[in-house]
Amino acid sequence: METAKPALVVHGGAGAAKELEDGCASAAERGRGLLGVSALAAAVAAVVSLEDDGRYNAGSGAALCLDGVTVEMDASVMDSQGTLGAVACLRGIRNPVLAAQEVAQTPHWLLAGDGAALLARRAGLAPSGQVSQRVRQEHRAMLSRLHSGMPSGPGADGEAYARFWEREAQLAAQRGAPGMSPESAGRSDTVGAVARDADGVFAVACSTGGTSPSLQGRVGDTPIIGSGFYAGPHGAVAATGVGEHIVRHLLAHQVYGWIADGMPLQRALERGVSLFAPDVEIGLIAVSRDSAGAHSNRGMPWAQVQHG
Ligand code: ASP
Repeated sequence: METAKPALVVHGGAGAAKELEDGCASAAERGRGLLGVSALAAAVAAVVSLEDDGRYNAGSGAALCLDGVTVEMDASVMDSQGTLGAVACLRGIRNPVLAAQEVAQTPHWLLAGDGAALLARRAGLAPSGQVSQRVRQEHRAMLSRLHSGMPSGPGADGEAYARFWEREAQLAAQRGAPGMSPESAGRSDTVGAVARDADGVFAVACSTGGTSPSLQGRVGDTPIIGSGFYAGPHGAVAATGVGEHIVRHLLAHQVYGWIADGMPLQRALERGVSLFAPDVEIGLIAVSRDSAGAHSNRGMPWAQVQHG
């Protein structure tokens, strides 16, 4: 029987501004109130709080695709009792993590696009609001960065931009006026939470608007089991950073495996981050039977609470 106190860890994205830590603290407090219900309820409540905050790249603050019009979001939930649900390329729903929870009630584990939105609407989930000025400004800043020839991300050089993205980016640029400085663009700000409850059940919940820039239909690590998230009888892990790199390491499951083998949690997090080149932003949070923590190769807002 589990003896460790219930615990919850929340993150606001690898490379996100430290000033966003207050939102993580509020989300962790909101989740703390539900640790007595279940680890999953606590992790989901924390992620809903961050989705509703508007400053993170998730839910109300989710980034625009390169076309400057479309918002597509990914989310996931999992616990050590068999709950597993995810959505990919979800449009028009305010809280994608709640849609992921709905998927977990179906015979499937992952729904994408229109089917995911249909399920969410049938479940009565609230629609998205208007795209905020902040999200539009960040999109314009990303475009000026692309046009100034700066790399669009690790491993995505100017040639990739020219081949696949030039036309969409030009169309988007015609729609927008200059906004924030290019330096202020490109943050990830994806959100996630991991929890351990009094019964020793572990859970994880994640939500993202994806990396920026991205083509329509792009899916990162966040809704992919074992890559962006994993939970089992030894703990729960959530990853943040560049999904195209995270999936190649099945990062969340890799780190979970080290914890299950007895590696100290903080060491497992550091080892996970060290798998990546320094230009790839990566962050991890985890809970185990006796520990909880976070690690990133960038600044990463995060918060931790215990209960009881
Ligand atoms: N991992 C997310 C993705 O690639 C982005 C992030 O964590 O900021 O979609």
